[in-house]
Amino acid sequence: MSHRLVVIGAGYAGLTAAKRLARKLSRSDATVTLVNASDRFVERVRLHQLAAGQRLAAPSLRQQLSGTSVRLVVGRVTAIDPTRRTVCTDVAPREIGYDTLVYAVGSQARLDEVPGAAQHADTVAGLEQATRLRHRVAQIAPGGTVAVVGGGLTGLEIASELAESYPSLRVRLFTGASDVGSGLAPRARTHLRRALDRLDVAVHPGTVVAAVREDGLDTRDGTSFAADAVVWATGFRAPELARAAGFATDESGRMLVDATLRSVSHPEVYAVGDAAAGVSTGGAPSRMSCQTALPMGRGVADVVAARLAGREPGPVRIGYAFTNISLGRHDGVVQFTHADDRPRGFVLTGHAAAVFKEAVVRSTVRSGPRGESGRDDPDS
Ligand SMILES: Cc1cc2nc3c(=O)[nH]c(=O)nc-3n(C[C@H](O)[C@H](O)[C@H](O)COP(=O)(O)OP(=O)(O)OC[C@H]3O[C@@H](n4cnc5c(N)ncnc54)[C@H](O)[C@@H]3O)c2cc1C
Repeated sequence: MSHRLVVIGAGYAGLTAAKRLARKLSRSDATVTLVNASDRFVERVRLHQLAAGQRLAAPSLRQQLSGTSVRLVVGRVTAIDPTRRTVCTDVAPREIGYDTLVYAVGSQARLDEVPGAAQHADTVAGLEQATRLRHRVAQIAPGGTVAVVGGGLTGLEIASELAESYPSLRVRLFTGASDVGSGLAPRARTHLRRALDRLDVAVHPGTVVAAVREDGLDTRDGTSFAADAVVWATGFRAPELARAAGFATDESGRMLVDATLRSVSHPEVYAVGDAAAGVSTGGAPSRMSCQTALPMGRGVADVVAARLAGREPGPVRIGYAFTNISLGRHDGVVQFTHADDRPRGFVLTGHAAAVFKEAVVRSTVRSGPRGESGRDDPDS
């Protein structure tokens, strides 16, 4: 019987992995099944743009997989049984057996951090949530307020994008940190602050949000702010599936993997992308980003193919080159980094940074999920 490979999640990491696995392995040796919650590839790095009213292309996964031998199951995985080596789905087939599992389910917003966030806050973590926010914001009357909670990359991007698209709305940005852009070089931070001023985003540094209400939020120091929408952007965590199945995970639910992306508790299981707690070149923990997801997606395919061929693979190399922040459509900050993600002195700002980011986002899809063609590749 041929080896049954199952990949859960068709984001940047999972789609890249599935296509590359199908290309590297012959149909008689292995079958590749890709299970994804929707029939579309979601360009997640543009979800703040979608929420701000822009169009988002969501190409069909079947189209992306045409010419490959990958079997697509559109449905949600509800549980993994590592003893029977099966995944349960909410569609037929209800159960899919695997010999090797690649866990690529991405991440989600941390909505359980404070009371009321899960009920009343919106996020840009997924397509459905960003679409809901888009509708909500579009209905706010001029003079209304959107509160964004979280001063990290996602918070900065959604706050800027909304402020640029809806100049008649008041955008407030709450961060528990003493300033925005910590971890960036001084020039990048200065530019960030100027851009937020230009966009009239009111920044509330050192302000911890303690609760979200239907009509606003409360901060830890007892102040209440009215808001027509609250966007929760405090960071991401992996879904509960891996932890519930008994795989070794970190405190964010990310699967603990070795340098070949193999689960440290279950050797027939691998994890990639946001759902994997890997280690980058240089020893830093892997960052949730496309710069992690794409090499992991390619790397896991190479590792699994090597092991199936009886060879022991080397480590998967994950290195960083920059951090990219869009500040609306015409401004941005690119912080160049060392491979271990420490910032370098070199920074790009303004229109050049916006152009750079757009080029990177386009090439991410071209060289990643779309680039793994179904045909033979001379580099493989
Ligand atoms: C608004 C926003 C802006 C961002 N900007 C940047 C940026 O500029 N640069 C950058 O590098 N990163 C950025 N990121 C982070 C980046 O999007 C993620 O790191 C990247 O998407 C991770 O890829 P992934 O393949 O691990 O997961 P995802 O792309 O999230 O894909 C996961 C897939 O798994 C599917 N899935 C999940 N659970 C299940 C289940 N139970 N059953 C079946 N399918 C399931 C999902 O539907 C999805 O298709 C941004 C993220 C957001 C939200």
